[in-house]
Amino acid sequence: MSLHSLRSALVAFSLALASLTAADFSAQFEQLKARATPAQLYAFLYALPKGGDLHNHAGGANLAESTFAICTDPARNGGDTFYTRVHFTGQPDAVAATVRFRTVRRHVYAALSPAVRAEYVALADLTPDERAEWCNAFRLDAAGEGRFEFFQNIWPRQSGIGRNLHVRTEQLVANIKAFAAEGLAYLETQFDVDDSADNSGQPIPRETAVAFVRRRLAQPDVVATGLVVRFQYTVLRFSPRADTELAAAYAFVDAHRDLWVGVNLAGIEENGFGYPARFLVPFRQLRARYPGIALSIHAGEMDGPDRHIRDTLLLGATRIGHGVNLIQDPDTLLLLQQSQRVLVEINLISNRLLEYTPDLAKHPFPEYLRTGVPVCLNTDDRGMWDSNLTDEYYTAVTTFHLSWSEIVQLGRNSLTHAFAQPEVRARLLADYDRAVAAFETTYGAATVEATLARLAAVKPVTYGYAQRTWGLSFEP
Ligand SMILES: [Zn+2]
Repeated sequence: MSLHSLRSALVAFSLALASLTAADFSAQFEQLKARATPAQLYAFLYALPKGGDLHNHAGGANLAESTFAICTDPARNGGDTFYTRVHFTGQPDAVAATVRFRTVRRHVYAALSPAVRAEYVALADLTPDERAEWCNAFRLDAAGEGRFEFFQNIWPRQSGIGRNLHVRTEQLVANIKAFAAEGLAYLETQFDVDDSADNSGQPIPRETAVAFVRRRLAQPDVVATGLVVRFQYTVLRFSPRADTELAAAYAFVDAHRDLWVGVNLAGIEENGFGYPARFLVPFRQLRARYPGIALSIHAGEMDGPDRHIRDTLLLGATRIGHGVNLIQDPDTLLLLQQSQRVLVEINLISNRLLEYTPDLAKHPFPEYLRTGVPVCLNTDDRGMWDSNLTDEYYTAVTTFHLSWSEIVQLGRNSLTHAFAQPEVRARLLADYDRAVAAFETTYGAATVEATLARLAAVKPVTYGYAQRTWGLSFEP
C-alpha cells in the first residue's frame, strides 16, 4: 500500500468513526429527551453551542434588572441620573399607561414643571415594590399583555433611556456577556448610535459615538467573551420619512462596513404605511448606487394572509424576519423551499407573546424546517419577553421534538446566513463545527445516566419567562 493510499484509508477510517459517533450521539439525544427532567434538558440546551442570533433588537434585548443596574450606577452610565414617573396626584387608573414608569434622564427631569417633577422619583430611590413594578413595566409578564402593550406602551416608556450612549453601550455589553455564557458565537443585533445626547442633552456627533462604541467593544471584558458582534441598521417602516431614512441607512452602513453589515426594516406591518411594496423604488435606487449591502427585512409578522413576504423578496432581502404567514402564501413558500437561498429568522417566544401564534404547537416553524426552508432560532426583543436563546431552543425541542441533526442544522444555518464578512463567517462555521464535535465528546457518554450526571456541572442562567412558563430556575 502506497503512502498516499494508506493516508486515504486512514482518512476514510477516521471519517467512518466520526460519523458513527455522530449517529450514536443522535440516538443518545433521543434517549436523553425521553429520560431527562425538564431542568436537565434545559441545562443540556444551555450548554449547547448555538451559532448566531440574527434577529435581535438592541433596544428590546435588555433585561429590566440589567437596565436598572446600569441606570443607577454612575460609573456605568456616564454620571447620569434617571427619574421615573411613579407618584401621581390623580387616581392611578386615570393615568395613561405610557405615562406610568416613563423614565427620563436628569437633564429632561430638570426641565419639567415643578408639579410634574413631583411625580418623578430617582430610580435609586424607588421602594423594593416600586422597583419590582418598574421592572415589570418593561416586559410582557402578565396575562393579557400582548402586542398593544408591547408596541404602544413599553417602547415609549423606555425611549429616554437609550439616548444615554453609555447606557446603550453597557446594555449591549451586558447582552454580549449573557449570550456568550449560553453558547452563542455570533450576535448580529439591530443597533445604532443615532439620537445619542450627552448629560446636558447636547447631541453627540455620530462619529464620536461610533468611536465610543468601538472603544468599549475592544475592552478586555468584551474581547474575553469571544463573541463576534456585528450590527444591522434598522429603519422604522411606517415612519413618514422612511425613504429618506433608508437612504441615510445605506450611506451609514456603506461608511462603516466593518461593523455594520446590513439594513433592516422593522416596525408593525399592520400599520397602513408599513407594507413592503412601498419601498420597491427606493431600494432599487439605492442598489444602483451601493454594492453589496445585505438586507434582512421583517415580513409576514401578520395574522392573516398577504403578499408581504413575496414583496419583501422583491425588495432584495435574503433574510426574512418572522415569516409567520409564509405558510399562507403557497407560491412564495414553494419558492423558498426550492431556492434554499433565503433564511427565515424564527422568533417563537415573540410570536407567542405578541399573539401572532398564541398556540406554538401551530407555529409553521417545523414545516419550514422540514421542507427545506433555511431557518434559525432568534430572540427578537428578549428583554421584553424576559427570556434568552436557550428558552427558544427549549421551546423548539419540547414542542417540535427536534432531532440532534436538526438542532445542529439550526446553528449552522444561523452562521451560513450571517451577514458578517465572508472570512469571518467561514471562521465562525469552522469554530462551530469544532464546538459541536467537542460538545458531542463531552456529553456523548457511554450511558444516558452518565450524560445526565455530567449535566449537573452546567449552571444555566434563566429569567422570568422560563420560571413562569416551565417553572425552571437554577441556583446561581
Ligand atoms: Zn424583530
